[in-house]
Amino acid sequence: MTRVDPATVLARHGALAEDPHAATSPPLYQTATFGQSRADAFDAFDYTRTDNPTRAAAESLLAELEGAPRALTYASGMAAIASVLRIARPGDRVLCGRDLYGGTQRFLHRHLEGVEARHVDLARTEDGRCPALAAALADGGARLVLVETPSNPRLDVTCLRSVCRTAHAAGALVVVDGTATTPWLQRPLEHGVDVALHSATKGLSGHGDVTAGVVATRDEALFEELSARRNAEGNALAPFEAWLLLRGLRTLGVRVERAQETALEVARWLEARAGVTEVRYPGLASHPGRAVHAGQADGAGVLVSFRTDGAESARRVCEATQRFTTAVSFGGVSSSISIPHHMSHASVPPGAAPPPEPDLVRLSIGLESARDLIADLDAALGKPVRLPTRTETLSAASNC
Ligand SMILES: *Cc1c(COP(=O)(O)O)cnc(C)c1O
Repeated sequence: MTRVDPATVLARHGALAEDPHAATSPPLYQTATFGQSRADAFDAFDYTRTDNPTRAAAESLLAELEGAPRALTYASGMAAIASVLRIARPGDRVLCGRDLYGGTQRFLHRHLEGVEARHVDLARTEDGRCPALAAALADGGARLVLVETPSNPRLDVTCLRSVCRTAHAAGALVVVDGTATTPWLQRPLEHGVDVALHSATKGLSGHGDVTAGVVATRDEALFEELSARRNAEGNALAPFEAWLLLRGLRTLGVRVERAQETALEVARWLEARAGVTEVRYPGLASHPGRAVHAGQADGAGVLVSFRTDGAESARRVCEATQRFTTAVSFGGVSSSISIPHHMSHASVPPGAAPPPEPDLVRLSIGLESARDLIADLDAALGKPVRLPTRTETLSAASNC
C-alpha cells in the first residue's frame, strides 16, 4: 500500500479506536484507573501510569510520523532522554557531539552515575565515516552515540548515515535528539538510527503550553525495556498533556513550513546586516553542513543563530526586540530570542563541551510576518540599514 502523506496523517489522525460515539476530536480520558470486566485478568487499559487511550492516540500518531511501529511519550523531553541514556550501565561510555542541549549535558555529566560522557567532533566526516567517532570507539566501552543535528544552539550538521555506519561497526547504538527538526522535516530512523527522541515541548506541540517528550524505535527489545521502565518509574505523559500534544500536532506541517520560510528570509537578511558577524542556518549557502542537511532532511527548520560583535551587544539586541519574547524553548507559534550561554546552557557543568559563545543569539521563528520580525531585529541591532522591500524578500526566498 502506498504510504499516506504525513499531511493527511496529521489532519485525519486522532480518533480513538473503538470510540462508540466517533468523536472527531480525540476524547480526553482524564482518569487514573479503568474498571475491569474480570478480577483475574486485565482489559486493554487498567491504570494510566501504564497506558491511557488519549496517550495511546498521541503515541500512535508520533510513531507513524517517525516510521516506527510504536512510540512512547514522557512527561518532558528530559524524562525521555534520561530514560534512553540509562540504557548505558555503569562502566559504559556515551559518546556525543560537541554542541548539545544544556540539560542533556547536565544529566550526562552530573546524574548518569558511573557512565563517562565524552564529546567528539561528529560533524566532520570523511569517505562516509566519522573519524573522531571511530577513534573514540576504538577505546572500547561505548554503548551509545548521541547526536543532535542540527545541534542546539550552534546548528552544526552531522551526517546520520556516516555516524550510523561508524557506530554500528563497533556495536554502539545511535540515538538522535531530533527536537530541532521534528519528524516533519527529518526522520532519523530512515537513515539507520536506532532511537529517535524529541522534546515535544518544542515544535511538536508548538504552542508553548505543554512539556512532553517522545521516543521512537524499531528495536522491539529496546522498546520493551523502555516501556517497562516507564511503567515502573511513572514518568509517562499525563492524559491532558497528551491531548494538548495531539491538538498541536494537527497543525505541525503548516506551522513548520510557514515558519521556516520566514526563518530563511530572516537568516538571509541577518547575513547582510552590519553588526552581525556570523549567521548559522542550515538553509544558507554559507552553512558548511548545508548539503549534508539537505540530503537527510526536508527543510532547514525554524532556528537561526547569529553572533554579534560582543556579549554586551548580544544582550542589548535580545532586550531591545519587541516582537521576540526573551525566553528559553523554541518551536512555538510566537518567535523567541535567547542567549544560550546565559539561558538554556547556563547549567552545563565544567568539563562538558565548550559552552556556546556569550554573543551567540538564538532565534526561534514563529508565525509572525517576516517583514515585522526583520524590522524589529533591525531596530534592535541599531545603526539603521535600508530594509528590503517585500518584493526583494519574496524573490530572495524563492531562490531556494
Ligand atoms: C528542550 C530540549 C530538550 C529538553 O526537553 P524538555 O521538554 O524541556 O525536558 C532536549 N533536547 C533539546 C534539543 C531541547 O531543545
